[in-house]
Amino acid sequence: MGKVKNYILKHASVRFNDNLSPALLIVNFTAPMEMKFDQNKNMLDEERQGEATLIKSNYSGNSRKLYLESYGCQMNFSDSEIVASILCDEGFTTTANQLEADVVLLNTCAIRENAESRVRQRLQDFKKEKKNRPGLIIGLLGCMAERLKEKLLEEEKLVDLIAGPDAYRDLPSLISQVDGGQKAINVLLSREETYADINPVRLDSNGVVAYISIMRGCDNMCSFCVVPFTRGRERSRDPESIVKEATDLFNSGYREVTLLGQNVDSYIYAGGGLKKEILTYEQKSNATSFSELLVMVAKVSPELRVRFSTSNPRDMTDDVLHAIASNQNICNYIHLPVQSGSTNVLKNMNRGYSRGVYMDRIKAIQTIIPDCAISTDLIAGFCGETEEEHKETLSLMEWVGYDFAYTFKYSERPGTQAQRNYKDDILPEVKSRRLAEIIKMQQKLSALSIKKMKGNTYRVLIEGFSKKSDDYFRGRNSQNAVCVFPKEDYKPGEYVNVLTEDCTPATLIGRVVHDQQPVY
Ligand code: SAM
Repeated sequence: MGKVKNYILKHASVRFNDNLSPALLIVNFTAPMEMKFDQNKNMLDEERQGEATLIKSNYSGNSRKLYLESYGCQMNFSDSEIVASILCDEGFTTTANQLEADVVLLNTCAIRENAESRVRQRLQDFKKEKKNRPGLIIGLLGCMAERLKEKLLEEEKLVDLIAGPDAYRDLPSLISQVDGGQKAINVLLSREETYADINPVRLDSNGVVAYISIMRGCDNMCSFCVVPFTRGRERSRDPESIVKEATDLFNSGYREVTLLGQNVDSYIYAGGGLKKEILTYEQKSNATSFSELLVMVAKVSPELRVRFSTSNPRDMTDDVLHAIASNQNICNYIHLPVQSGSTNVLKNMNRGYSRGVYMDRIKAIQTIIPDCAISTDLIAGFCGETEEEHKETLSLMEWVGYDFAYTFKYSERPGTQAQRNYKDDILPEVKSRRLAEIIKMQQKLSALSIKKMKGNTYRVLIEGFSKKSDDYFRGRNSQNAVCVFPKEDYKPGEYVNVLTEDCTPATLIGRVVHDQQPVY
């Protein structure tokens, strides 16, 4: 990795005691905390927040123990696997028990204010632990670390180490600095870093589905969003390394990969570096596009399902839709965040498309991939949003008939265009009421979507036990709907045809059949 600038903070308040073997506890609070709407519970489900990452290590015995806890979006969870890989190569083993950790790293999220508050609250839990064990190293990684930099060390005295999303290769050296009695920080953003050569091992997963980062950063500059500031400029990863990672996963039993990026449709690889530097016609015509990458990964095996997230309406072209339509193992599911149904709000958000353009993209999806499930992200109460504009969001939701939605109240983020140019003028109670109306609408649409699927037979990839009973397995169909069915003698990682005979508002319930062809 290029030059690394480390700020070693003198006069560290915490000293490492050489006689203790400090365990590494990684709590990972990074990217955007996605609030998943759960139709069953009529609430926002944040199931994976705070999950510990455990990975295989060749070391045992006296190795230092790392507790790695992740917050935020899926990219952050994927980053935590990279972090754990890097540290396990240095002799760490991961632990799910924070009390036995020598090092705690929190991979943080900065997308909304409450994501950061949650990290600060979580740090309180470690105060007593740190008092009892002064040798315990506590580090903050990810987007909040990148946004606040040295300020975090000043504000949160128990934190020893800060590393931004492009500085994870430097973690062993940062930890050594803390071992040496200093505080350590590296928040440099990179022009090239994609961690392409780091092969994350995913022992904490179900062994069936995995995530592959295909790019880093974002060039879109949506006015509400902190991501370009915390994750840097957009760069795409070498497609060969992506295909190799998918192949390795398939060979070790995985049957589904999700390709991850802030804006996957904007993926373009012409030898590395920043996207904005791919300028010449020749470079562009020789580059690998997202639709080409999708097909390359799909060709790893027809038995490997391919999903991707997140798409952006301003960049999603028809060639991606045709790639999905002509490859059965590329799933019929697109997450296409709209944020608002009002052209005026979209303009203020700097989203680069109007309501009409978004609707045209939806029509293209429905024409080229009939039966494609569509989900979205929505923000309630953006600066200046009128009641009429909010209603346009509700009417657009109904027009699209979203299968699923992630819904958020607007949260002003320091340094963003919106914070500099607009007033956060929608009263909290108005934001809450608008969000509730959006959630209510989505409840209705999600229930309709599940009911429409009921009665069909789907090809389902078995992921593991159902949440409610070990006598049932759960899996998803191509459209990403959860199906639950008696487990009989099947195994996770196998595909089965499930006739869906019943449903809850969020789940299809059925049984495995052998005499019916699946619709997908
Ligand atoms: N890159 C994707 C895009 O632009 O569509 C996803 C970006 S973000 C990591 C995930 C979601 O968080 C966004 O789509 C948006 O709905 C939400 N979000 C981002 N910034 C926000 C803010 N300041 N307040 C509320 N929600 C926000």
